[in-house]
Amino acid sequence: MELRGKEAWYERACDCLVGGVNSPVRAWKAVGGTPLFFASAKGAYLKDTEGREYRDYVGSWGPMILGHADSDVSAAIAAAAGRSPSFGAPCPDEVLLAEAVKARFPSIDLMRFVSSGTEATMTALRLARGFTGRDKIVKFAGNYHGHNDSLLVAAGSGALTFGVPTSPGVTARTADDTIVVPFNSLDAVTQAFAETRDEIAAVIVEPWAGNMGLVPPEAGFLEGLRELTRARGALLIFDEVITGFRVPEGGVQNALGVTPDLTCLGKIVGGGMPVGALGGRADVMEKLSPLGPVYQAGTLSGNPVTMAAGRAVLAKLTPDVYETLEARGAQLEAGLLEAAASAGLPLTVTRLGSALGVFFAERAPRDLNEAMATRGDLYPAFFHGMLERGSYFAPSAFEAVFVSAAHTEETVNLTIIDAKDCFRELADQI
Ligand SMILES: *Cc1c(COP(=O)(O)O)cnc(C)c1O
Repeated sequence: MELRGKEAWYERACDCLVGGVNSPVRAWKAVGGTPLFFASAKGAYLKDTEGREYRDYVGSWGPMILGHADSDVSAAIAAAAGRSPSFGAPCPDEVLLAEAVKARFPSIDLMRFVSSGTEATMTALRLARGFTGRDKIVKFAGNYHGHNDSLLVAAGSGALTFGVPTSPGVTARTADDTIVVPFNSLDAVTQAFAETRDEIAAVIVEPWAGNMGLVPPEAGFLEGLRELTRARGALLIFDEVITGFRVPEGGVQNALGVTPDLTCLGKIVGGGMPVGALGGRADVMEKLSPLGPVYQAGTLSGNPVTMAAGRAVLAKLTPDVYETLEARGAQLEAGLLEAAASAGLPLTVTRLGSALGVFFAERAPRDLNEAMATRGDLYPAFFHGMLERGSYFAPSAFEAVFVSAAHTEETVNLTIIDAKDCFRELADQI
């Protein structure tokens, strides 16, 4: 390969790809600098086009729970690709993966695979609207559900507000059907139901919020949503695209014992291939075509390569592997906290198994406003400081940190040692 440096690749990329990337956060606008171009990855390590290795704490934003290029997963992908990447017709692997998902999620009677998390939430909303005959949706500020029009909506300025579009191209009328309330605020949801009478089709929530850092639900919050939606004839949708297979119980829903009507999945369930899925109560799912009138389709849905990758990953997510994931997550949490304490830097870590939230603050935020009030301004220096030392974290603050089963105790230890150095530099800045 003639071209090696990231600068050269980025320049070339910017001449043919919008902003040089295919997903905006990859452009490093939030941290500055030229994005790395990766050539390969194995286990816990990424290798860039210049041959430098990095300990990976992004995991492709979640899917790589076993680490990169796991030999069983790669073999399953290669074998499936050899049988043809797509039939556009039923195949055994989609049945076998659906059975494996159902085995972990008792709330799912029937499901459908799609090609992204965005498609899963989009379909879940359409289905909820079709099932209930209602138009409005409640979502939580700081929860991310992909880039659907109905969900690219932020809170307006009032206490209870109808949403305002967060992107040009989302119509005011679409945003008007989305009610945005603070995460962890049952009162706001209660108020939304009271003020709209029976217009709300569904409440969609990330049961552990993973897109404003990692923010846990407060005791009773999810249970309260369950009671409210049930009492008011609305559906409860859990977006477990991140959390679905991060915990051994089968999502946050089974870990906490709160049963949603619909569940959206993605990321891990496709083993690194493009994927999304939605599933839930039979009477709701049966409204989806071809059984019912709510339309949804996908040329590459249930794609055999994706299905094989997903099956290979789920087959390896055994209790033993979850124990390893838990141990590594706990090790990183303790190490980061100790490193920050020794540097005199305020730091809070939230953790769901092998997913962590790292906040430069004295305590964990409970919603988006509190997350934004933490010292996110320290993040670019943290990101570049860790990168220089060989650990790759997300190129944007308020993203979850992911540890994989391929991270050894030694790998995590090296990162903790780097963090000690890095935090000392940061502490000097505040
Ligand atoms: C990543 C993500 C999505 C969107 O998934 P894509 O595959 O990127 O479309 C939806 N919901 C949550 C919670 C996510 O983290």
